Amino acid sequence: MSTAASNTPLLPTANPPTWLGVMGGGQLGRMFTQAAQAMGYKVAVLEPALDCPAGQVAERLVNAGYSDNIALGQLAALCSAVTTEFENVPADSMNLLAQGSFVAPAGACVAIAQDRILEKRFFVDCAPQSGVMPAPHKVIASLDDIDAIGDELLPGILKTVRMGYDGKGQVRVSSREDVRAAFEAMKGVTCLLEKMLPLAYEVSVLTARGADGESVVYPIAENVHRDGILFTTTVPGPNVSQECARQAQDAARAIVAQLGYVGVLCIEFFVLEDGTLVVNEMAPRPHNSGHYTIDACVTSQFAQQVRAMARLPLGDVRQHSPAVMLNILGDAWFEGETLREPAWDQVLALPGAFLHLYGKDDPRRGRKMGHLTFVAPTLDAAREQLRAACAILGIAP
Ligand code: ATP
Ligand code: MG
Repeated sequence: MSTAASNTPLLPTANPPTWLGVMGGGQLGRMFTQAAQAMGYKVAVLEPALDCPAGQVAERLVNAGYSDNIALGQLAALCSAVTTEFENVPADSMNLLAQGSFVAPAGACVAIAQDRILEKRFFVDCAPQSGVMPAPHKVIASLDDIDAIGDELLPGILKTVRMGYDGKGQVRVSSREDVRAAFEAMKGVTCLLEKMLPLAYEVSVLTARGADGESVVYPIAENVHRDGILFTTTVPGPNVSQECARQAQDAARAIVAQLGYVGVLCIEFFVLEDGTLVVNEMAPRPHNSGHYTIDACVTSQFAQQVRAMARLPLGDVRQHSPAVMLNILGDAWFEGETLREPAWDQVLALPGAFLHLYGKDDPRRGRKMGHLTFVAPTLDAAREQLRAACAILGIAP
């Protein structure tokens, strides 16, 4: 079953079936599973939670912790290739899986993307090739580091080095006293202080690279965040100039090549008020800002993840319709304090609406429950449908 050293494609076969594995059972794992199944693979999910979005649709759920060596052995023995949907999967687990299966992305790449210090260092080292730098920053590991903060880094944002997502583990600071208080509140875990930059808007670039070194780059996406959580993704981005798009896509190509990455990778950038492009962070997996590819591109980011791990030719990344993606949070189920189902019938009456719900039975405020994508012949028409959907769902546009 082990094909780790081989470069031959893992074709979907009927008997015995070809199994693909995924670390993590969230919505990204669910949409990966659906894409893999559509192409004829069987999918096994490793996830500690019993009821999870991916476990509901996969042929097998290996119900165990991400570092459970016995479970990892089972997954590697069953699956011809394994990927991850969970950014904070232990890199050691990916390395262990690689002893028995083809693993994409590699543990070494995951290790860089999940540690803000390693990630920033990588971006700086990569700058001669990528042409973009990260925000000015400094590692804060001790109170002495705080005394040594230069004025040019303030005001800034103090971010935990590991396990940050949706803006969690971040504090805005304007003085060394603020940094000290925030650092102590984070119980002294190692942090990174980043200079607060004057953002004009935010973009992301989704890329995929195959084991043969071929890579593809999706159209640049413009992202709006609300309360630290992605609110909408618009493609093509209304603010994005051709020059900015070219620069971000070239940077993404250089970064993915420099990493020697195999799989789908998403890179987030800031565009500053003076037009400068700054690289923020990368996710070694499909990304929330790439959900629009399911309904608006020839090959979705999840089908691309399947192709890359199965060493198949990468798919066409062409976008066939302008698109807007809206995240649906648990808030949409609340009317005051009363829970009720959102009026999906009204939303689906809007032209070009695609509803994706993740099978979560417990709507909570701020929890990602699903997303909507609107495609239309023009971006203006797609944005008009988005506004109409927001009005139906009680979301401020
Ligand atoms: P996510 O997982 O949602 O991508 P995260 O918790 O990993 O988020 P970041 O992407 O680093 O954190 O930051 C979240 C948001 O905070 C950014 O999208 C941006 O809006 C803002 N932000 C982060 N760093 C800076 C900065 N240096 N200057 C200005 N704004 C910033
Ligand atoms: Mg981010």
